[in-house]
Amino acid sequence: MLIVYSKAMVPAALALAILNTSAFGEAATNQIQVVYEAPKERDLEIVYKDMKERRVLERLQEFLSPFKLPRPLKFTFQSCDGEDDAFYFDYDVTLCYELVDELQWAKPRKTTEDGLTPHDAVAGPFFSIALHEFAHAVFDLYNVPIFGREEDAADQLAAYIILLLDKTIASRLIRGTAYEFLTESKEEKSESTIAYASEHGTAEQRYYNVLCLAFGADPKRFSSLKSKNILPEERADACQDEFEQIEDAYKAVILPHVDQALAEKVWGKLEVRTN
Ligand SMILES: [Zn+2]
Repeated sequence: MLIVYSKAMVPAALALAILNTSAFGEAATNQIQVVYEAPKERDLEIVYKDMKERRVLERLQEFLSPFKLPRPLKFTFQSCDGEDDAFYFDYDVTLCYELVDELQWAKPRKTTEDGLTPHDAVAGPFFSIALHEFAHAVFDLYNVPIFGREEDAADQLAAYIILLLDKTIASRLIRGTAYEFLTESKEEKSESTIAYASEHGTAEQRYYNVLCLAFGADPKRFSSLKSKNILPEERADACQDEFEQIEDAYKAVILPHVDQALAEKVWGKLEVRTN
């Protein structure tokens, strides 16, 4: 399967300067470690078994293997005392079983009128969230300086990585992600202004942001976002510039750390279930 994966290079001197910022020595591929902890709550057993059987973390491990990291990075599935959360701290990414449980609960019961499958409504946001946490990790590991909110930058890097993939798969993952933000925004509305206090954008903003990046990456494929006025024209017209800004940042600070031959191999064979 062919993938859309830019081979654009950064100047060698810049790449070397970036690679040398690591405090951990030699960077290497295949640095992702994965752990499934048994959940404390019995009602999460089913999620735990499902994730293990589907080898979700192993697939994530393979997907992230092309990133040359200066030290191992661990992804742990665990129960989080009822919080449907995911977070990065100190070279550990935690993914909560409650998060998957919540996504399963919020998914549409059948394929929606605009073609979003129940599967994509779970896989899209789960993958986006895992990549968002991975983004926090690489900002830390590569000492990436960030203007603006790190949460926005993490969302942007996650969406950008998805948009490097096969177009059909990228489109399904982005639509699933947008669905989750829209669902979350309805909950936020009932919580008055508290969502504005978050270090994250509001779910509604994140919804428009991810759609804007998709439209900016491929205005033809995502043309209905503008023609159906899902993305207002004033925003849509700026999305190619927004996408290019993120692409420039990716090429400058992330791409030098990616084993491109491995990325083409691993990301090219990514498959997402169709039901
Ligand atoms: Zn975050």
